Formats: sequence, C-alpha cells, structure tokens
Amino acid sequence: MFPTDVPADQLICSAKGCQQPASYAVLWNNPKVHTPEREKTWLACEQHREWLSDFLDRRGFLLRVDEV
Ligand SMILES: [Zn+2]
Repeated sequence: MFPTDVPADQLICSAKGCQQPASYAVLWNNPKVHTPEREKTWLACEQHREWLSDFLDRRGFLLRVDEV
C-alpha cells in the first residue's frame, strides 16, 4: 500500500498501480527518520492528490502540496 518514491523528473502519480500523469507534488517529512530540512516527494494525479495528502496528514508528515 505504501507508495514508492519516484524521481521528480518522472511525472507519474506515486499511488500504487496508478499510471496517470501527475499534476501535484506532495511534499512530506517523517521527523523520526528524516532531518527537518529533508523533503520527500510523492507525485499525485488529480484523483490521488487528496488520498496521498490525507495519508500523510494523518501521520503528521505532510509539509505541503505543490502544483507541478
Ligand atoms: Zn493517481
């Protein structure tokens, strides 16, 4: 279930099984394993933007969502 990290130049949604072009970058950081200045990026299509940001927000990892 956990989406995989993808290079930011490959603009495909990070949601598992989704091959849609991504319109958003969901930036997050897990304070338990990442230093505060580290930003992890998931890409999200229109349909998965809310799902992915929600997933991170519930864990307190969400930093922000940018358009790409
Ligand atoms: Zn998607």
